[in-house]
Amino acid sequence: MKIICNIPSTLRATFFAAVAVTVFVSSAALLHAQRLPDTVRPDHYTLSLTPDLKAATFSGVETIDVTLSKSEKHITLNSAEIAFQSVAAIVNGKTINADVSLDKNKEQVTFSFDEKLPAGPAKLSISYTGILNGELRGFYLSKTARRNYAVTQFESTDARRAFPCFDEPAFKATYDVSLTIDAGDTAISNGELIADAPATTSGKHTVTFATTPKMSTYLVAFLVGDFKCSSGSSDGVAIRVCATPDKVALTPYGLGVAEKTLHYYNQYFGIPYPLKKLDLIALPDFEAGAMENFGAITYRETDLLLDEKTATVHDRKEVALVITHEMAHQWFGDLVTMQWWDNLWLNEGFATWMETKAAGVLHPEWNMDQTVAGDLQDTLSLDAQPTTRPIRARADTPDEISQMFDGIAYGKAGAVLSMIENYLGEDTFRQGVHNYLAAHVYGNATAEDFWGAQTANSHKPVDKIMESLVTQRGVPVLAVGDPVNGKVSIEQKRFFLNPGVTVETAQAWTLPVCFKSAASQQCEVLTPSASKLDAPENALLFANAGGKGYYRASYSRRVYESLVTNVETSLTPDERIILLGDQWAQVHANKASVGSDLDLIAAVKADTNAEVIENALKASPEVIRASIPDSGFRAIYVQIAATPAEKARLSTWIRANFAPELAKLSAPTATDSDNTRELRAKLFSILGLYGKDPAVIAQAKQITEKYLADASSVDASLGKSALAIAASNGDAALFNELQNIFETSANPELQEGALHQLQRFEDPTLLDRALNYFVSGKVRNQDVAYLFADALGSDANREQTWKFIEGHWDAVRAQLTTESGSRLVSATGNFCTEERRDEVRKFFASHSVSASSGAQSHSQERINGCIELRGQQEPKLKKWLDAQTKQ
Ligand SMILES: [Zn+2]
Repeated sequence: MKIICNIPSTLRATFFAAVAVTVFVSSAALLHAQRLPDTVRPDHYTLSLTPDLKAATFSGVETIDVTLSKSEKHITLNSAEIAFQSVAAIVNGKTINADVSLDKNKEQVTFSFDEKLPAGPAKLSISYTGILNGELRGFYLSKTARRNYAVTQFESTDARRAFPCFDEPAFKATYDVSLTIDAGDTAISNGELIADAPATTSGKHTVTFATTPKMSTYLVAFLVGDFKCSSGSSDGVAIRVCATPDKVALTPYGLGVAEKTLHYYNQYFGIPYPLKKLDLIALPDFEAGAMENFGAITYRETDLLLDEKTATVHDRKEVALVITHEMAHQWFGDLVTMQWWDNLWLNEGFATWMETKAAGVLHPEWNMDQTVAGDLQDTLSLDAQPTTRPIRARADTPDEISQMFDGIAYGKAGAVLSMIENYLGEDTFRQGVHNYLAAHVYGNATAEDFWGAQTANSHKPVDKIMESLVTQRGVPVLAVGDPVNGKVSIEQKRFFLNPGVTVETAQAWTLPVCFKSAASQQCEVLTPSASKLDAPENALLFANAGGKGYYRASYSRRVYESLVTNVETSLTPDERIILLGDQWAQVHANKASVGSDLDLIAAVKADTNAEVIENALKASPEVIRASIPDSGFRAIYVQIAATPAEKARLSTWIRANFAPELAKLSAPTATDSDNTRELRAKLFSILGLYGKDPAVIAQAKQITEKYLADASSVDASLGKSALAIAASNGDAALFNELQNIFETSANPELQEGALHQLQRFEDPTLLDRALNYFVSGKVRNQDVAYLFADALGSDANREQTWKFIEGHWDAVRAQLTTESGSRLVSATGNFCTEERRDEVRKFFASHSVSASSGAQSHSQERINGCIELRGQQEPKLKKWLDAQTKQ
């Protein structure tokens, strides 16, 4: 999955009335013991489902072939929001009926048979009904103006809402799925469609799919509607990209990416994709970005569909990255699955590491290594908070499991894998990956299985390195001393962004530290007890060559100044991004002055790499940053500068330094590289949004008029930046135009782009219109939390947005899904005063948001960090600005 309810109590009550039931009320301790006994294992499921898209219900007839390791009178499995009609076991041709008892809190059902079932094989026969919910999980309804669709999202613990099952990743089985659906409708599932016959009910037909490979329940999928697809193939595998009929014209780009990616992965893994077909399906309503169901990957429309005439470079990259991410999961996650959710990183870390690798092979011009270095900065910031968690962490309840889908499971695990690959070398690492996968196909694996395979293959201490990073929380910081007698002293400890934070127990890691050297890099393993490493025979001391090291570094003033001086000549673009991140971290921890970071930003101002400029400024309107601590120029402007006067002086500085760089770039041409398109758009954004440059603001207005009249008439990346600037300064006429595009466009990217701009209007009346519009029911609940998070991330609109949330909580709450609330909570971390900090804490203490405990503590921490940062650095900023004006 690419990061993302409770059924209204009224519905629950009616639901459970249908069967002979006994409901258990379980204590907190029992809550944790949510694991199923392993004395009964499923081998095969046969599922026949009949959804009713009008009544929003479905019925199911299911058989589960199970094996009992010992005789049992009771069998417990998972079930939620399901009403049972009948349950029986068939053993040696004999039918044995069962009573059904539900444990709502544990989402479990227990079948109590009239007599003990013997050890060995048995067939469970179940008939039941369920509901097609509006919560974007389980078997749910997705709606367009034209019709309803019945679709599924099971990760992590929601297969149990569609069919009673052993809903844990290690209970792998095969599945036969058939769906009885309305004539004229079609359906998609994991296996290819093998039969389509008239049903006994008139006006319906039954479609049957091929038996799936052995897999976990969370990877099962079935989708009903009138999907249209574009088709292709790769290495003999049939590939389709599907969408609602009005959007099928936006599928070819995704198809091209999927075809190339499948061929690349077959080569890279050395294990061919195991199914006959691969479908990628865009759904009108989807909580996260995408989901790696085996053979049937589901997507949010904006993460799969695009019009190449109007898509920005960012859009094309985003769609490609989500496709390469989900397709990597077909191997990492689907073929080989983590044993339990505590090791979710084995799925998500790999897919995160692999997505940029594959996209970089398909598009070398996208400089994916720079994107990786930039993502590493965000991850290191997230992980430098006291409440961070280790990569492998306990998760027992659905709530705890859903909170595992965070920047640690994705970003940190992915970054650690990149570091190991950089240390071992690509081919050695690749062989280790192959050995690991080959050893566990159609099975489950643990962290030890992975690093054991890499250690055995490379004969290097990968196990020591990975164990120290997977089991310990936090970020190492290396204080690099100046070289003396061919040695460099290294002092390592845990790094915190907030200066006041300390830990009782000292921590130390085993890390491959790579210095820049004549031969590009010189890596040596730093063990917890080591304090010196060999000095590189290179003039410039830089301790993160290649930009893949999962650590922060700090240098002496002399070395730092030589790095600033030589940043454009001696460091690669990825290493520049690392240095920008390291220096900002030192400023945030009050170990350096904000001036030293602004000097570095000025030193890279002429850099022609869009990603370097992005990491220096962090001002791109396309990057949604709800839960990531701010950094770069944006953080200095938003967090350190407290007064309008200071912000205005920073705006003057931005104009002085970056307007000439924009001027160097001529007007957009058809032959511009993607990097130039993005660089121009990012410089335009910073000058318009933070430089308040009147010429750029005026130009943004003109470009916006052209862009809205015909999106293909303007360079899309520049068009989107201009639109963000125009909206920030926009009037009711522009607001109406954008609302109309959202309501009428058939292009999801343009629709979403227009919708997101509504929260940028700084005119209080228009912002109020936007906030009311977001809770009006006209906006899909998959988007609402993102929109409020964006508005809370805006310096100009945060206060009004928060007042609105406080004053309209029921309306806001009604538009949040079980998973999305934490996103809104995270974004309150953008405040920077004690008053707001305490207000936010009190508010969520009395207004509960599911699966948000982690987000609440992170939010408080970020606010505390900002308060401290401003307190310590604002005086230094004033001094630096004064010094600038004297120059
Ligand atoms: Zn994923």
